[in-house]
Amino acid sequence: MAAAATESPTLGAFGDEVAACTRCALASGRTIVVFGSGSPTADLMFVGEAPGFHEDKQGLPFVGAAGQLLSKLLGGIGLTRDDVFVANVLKCRPPGNRDPLPEEIAACEGHLFRQIELIRPKVVATLGNFATKLLSGRPDGITRVHGREQAVSLGGNRVVLYPIFHPAAALYTPRMLEVLEADFGRIPALLGRDPAPAPVVAALRPVASAAPAEPVQLGLF
Ligand code: URA
Repeated sequence: MAAAATESPTLGAFGDEVAACTRCALASGRTIVVFGSGSPTADLMFVGEAPGFHEDKQGLPFVGAAGQLLSKLLGGIGLTRDDVFVANVLKCRPPGNRDPLPEEIAACEGHLFRQIELIRPKVVATLGNFATKLLSGRPDGITRVHGREQAVSLGGNRVVLYPIFHPAAALYTPRMLEVLEADFGRIPALLGRDPAPAPVVAALRPVASAAPAEPVQLGLF
C-alpha cells in the first residue's frame, strides 16, 4: 500500500495543513483526515467520493474492498498504487457513509483543487458521480459520461478528465466490472504509454502436455 503523501515537501506541507481542517462539520466526527496517498508527481490521479469506515481509521484512501479492486484494476494496466495518486472529493468520512452534502463539497473542494495544482497529473480519472460532477462542472451522471475523456483546466493546468465508474459499484455487478475494465484499458493510451502486455497464462503451460480444451482464464477475473 502506498504511503501517505509526505515525499514532496510542498504536497506534504499541504497535507499537514489539511490534517487540521475544520471547514465543515465532518471534522468533529472523523478519526483522521484522509488526505490521499501515492506519488506526489503522478501522471495519473484518481478521485473518489469520500473516506469510508476503514479509510477513516487508517488515514488512507481506498483501503477497503473497493480499494482492493482499484489496485487490481491498476495491476491490469501495469501500474501500482505507488505510481498514481489517489484522493477523494471529501477528506473526512460522512457519518454512516452517507452521500456528501453540497456544503461539505463546497468546503472541501479547495483542498482537491490545490492537490491537483501541486501534483500536476496528466490524467485525472474521476470515480463515480460526485468526483465527475465536481471536476467536470457539469451535471451529467457517470452512466452517461464514463469512458469519455475531455480536456479541462484544473488547478491551473490542462488535464485530461476521464470519468469512470466507482469500483464499489462494480464489486457485485459483473456487467459493471466489465465496463470498468474496458474503461481502465484506455488509460495507458490517455497517458501516452504503451498498454501493459497481455497476461501470458497460456505460454506457461508445458508444451507437450495434453492440455484439456477448457478456456484459459485471461484478464483480471
Ligand atoms: N470510496 C471512496 O470513494 N473513497 C475511499 O477512499 C474509499 C471508498
